[in-house]
Amino acid sequence: MGRKKCEILLLVKKEVIRKILSKVESENIEICGILFGERRKGKEFIVKECSFIKNLNNSPLSFTMDPKEMYFEIMKHAKKSMDIVGLFHSHMSSTKPSSRDLKFMRLWGIPWVIISKHDKAIVAYIIKDDDLCEVEIIEIP
Ligand SMILES: [Zn+2]
Repeated sequence: MGRKKCEILLLVKKEVIRKILSKVESENIEICGILFGERRKGKEFIVKECSFIKNLNNSPLSFTMDPKEMYFEIMKHAKKSMDIVGLFHSHMSSTKPSSRDLKFMRLWGIPWVIISKHDKAIVAYIIKDDDLCEVEIIEIP
């Protein structure tokens, strides 16, 4: 699988990026959660809010989102007409997806944002036609 750029854009509110980075900074395990907002024309994903979900693995090497918390957050945002537009989690060092990440990315078909605790790099990916592509992240006010 290559690492080509795709045409999909992830527009993320500055506030959301700030919140995620500060959570990553404060934890010594992988943090994870859901990005909510709206999807436009199938190629733009607008992230308006994020919800942190408990990492059941409680591990610095992998994550499993608590399904009960996921359900609760999805329902809460559905009432505000917000869809899931991405998932995020942190890594201790590289932003490269693990083989486990790739497996689940395939199932979801939405952007996955990976944040490095080490250098605060933020990279978004999506799997399209069985290829791993990088999704451009644009900060919006
Ligand atoms: Zn990962």
